[in-house]
Amino acid sequence: MTRGMRPEQVWGIGLTDEAGSAISTALGVGYVLRNWPIGSPPGERDMGRATPLVIFVVKEAWDALPADTRKAIEEWEVPQRVLVLGASQSVADFEELLDNGFLSAISEPLTDKKVRDVIFRAKEVKSLYDDIFRMTREIMLERELLARKTDLVLFLNRILSRASESLDPTVILDNAREDLQLLLPLHGLMGAFWQAGDTGPLEAELFLEPEMEPAAEQYWTEQLLRQAAKIAGKPMHSYKASFLDGSKDSNPVGIPNAPEELITLPLRAGGQMFGLLVLYRAKGSALGKDQVQALYASVNHLALALKNAALFSQVKIRADHDGLTRIHNRRAFDERLIDELRRHQRYTQPMSLLMIDIDHFKGINDRYGHLVGDHVLREIGRILSDTLRSTDFTARYGGEEFVVILPQTTDEHSRILAERLRTIIAEARFVHDGEAFSITVSIGAATMQPGALSKRKELLEKADKALYQAKHLGRNQVCTALGPVSRTDAALLGAAQAG
Ligand code: GH3
Ligand code: MG
Ligand code: MG
Repeated sequence: MTRGMRPEQVWGIGLTDEAGSAISTALGVGYVLRNWPIGSPPGERDMGRATPLVIFVVKEAWDALPADTRKAIEEWEVPQRVLVLGASQSVADFEELLDNGFLSAISEPLTDKKVRDVIFRAKEVKSLYDDIFRMTREIMLERELLARKTDLVLFLNRILSRASESLDPTVILDNAREDLQLLLPLHGLMGAFWQAGDTGPLEAELFLEPEMEPAAEQYWTEQLLRQAAKIAGKPMHSYKASFLDGSKDSNPVGIPNAPEELITLPLRAGGQMFGLLVLYRAKGSALGKDQVQALYASVNHLALALKNAALFSQVKIRADHDGLTRIHNRRAFDERLIDELRRHQRYTQPMSLLMIDIDHFKGINDRYGHLVGDHVLREIGRILSDTLRSTDFTARYGGEEFVVILPQTTDEHSRILAERLRTIIAEARFVHDGEAFSITVSIGAATMQPGALSKRKELLEKADKALYQAKHLGRNQVCTALGPVSRTDAALLGAAQAG
């Protein structure tokens, strides 16, 4: 026996002294026999404390065991049970017992050979059991690994297919938040994209969770801009914020308690960083290696989808906007007018249209050159965009003509607004070669009354007629279908509205 190694236990139940010493002798060094006399069998505690290799059970002792002790021994997996028969007893009588899980039976007298045979077989069975145990555990582990890999593949597949379902970044991000929840619980997901503006500095577009408290909204705006500057390597010059739909059944997103609750993931496509995602984790437990891999793989998929969405929106903006003035073009106006008229018919509110034409513009070109003419057109576009509400829609209709759709605006309001635009434009000063000049516009306004069945052509014709009248009456004025708008009336009305 090696030092430090405990001797292997062998038990007997009801062995005579003679049988006991025969077994002990046969076992030799490395084993210790413990015998439980009839009437005092091993209890639950004894069985919990040691696990013998073999239990030699005398038939009479077995019969005398309390039912629950017998059951406990029968269900004990590791020790092999060997039945000890008297010299006159025959094995055949105990077939039933052998069926009950005994390894074998030996009959007295117990020779060394019989005992060692039994021990040898018990060891074989035990090592067989050990192998089966080990293999079972390996199979279970493999199965678990496989199940986790399958989950991961399904997860990535879901992210990939949902990300390419839409070209709208808010839809992609809302879906991503929902899908990433499968990987790690999230309070929220926000994003920032950036691109160089016309003049060089970076312009950011932020995607925020909806309905946050003002302090939280400010925190997240600053957080996104700071991270964006860090990743882009220079500060964001300007930004515009959009809001996601948010997850259906959660509270507005707040301010995180600790920086560890945030995971910032750069978005890269075509070897270029163009944005980032920030995940606000709901629980702080560390991510497993698998999860981190899945997270990075899914962010790569998302980056491609988001880059596509960004390119698409750039192309769309180009298709919808006029190259010179950067306001909407006629194509976008035609589309929008159809939408607005549809909306107008659904609601009981009027809508108005302004048609604006620069007076004697040909003269500006002739006198100062086309480039100055272009500059004037750009300035008019800027004045219109700056003066009007975001719900109003401004477009360059053609040449030096502009149109404005005013949803939910009465004829009275449209006259006030037209008069204000006319004044602002007339007061704008342009300079060329040290010579200051100004321009004027004529405006035709038309209004569709609530409930009136509206045709696009009719509204445009009405505005066009009013514009023609304004030109005819001497330019630099506003006309409606009812005739010229008195400047003082409009100014008074405007003052009354403002008051
Ligand atoms: P009216 O007061 O009757 O409107 O006179 P007008 O000179 O403004 O009108 P007309 O239709 O005779 O001339 C419009 C001019 O606008 C002619 C054209 O050369 C000029 N124009 C159209 N598009 C552009 C442009 O993109 N850039 C410049 N610089 N000029 C343009
Ligand atoms: Mg014209
Ligand atoms: Mg003109």
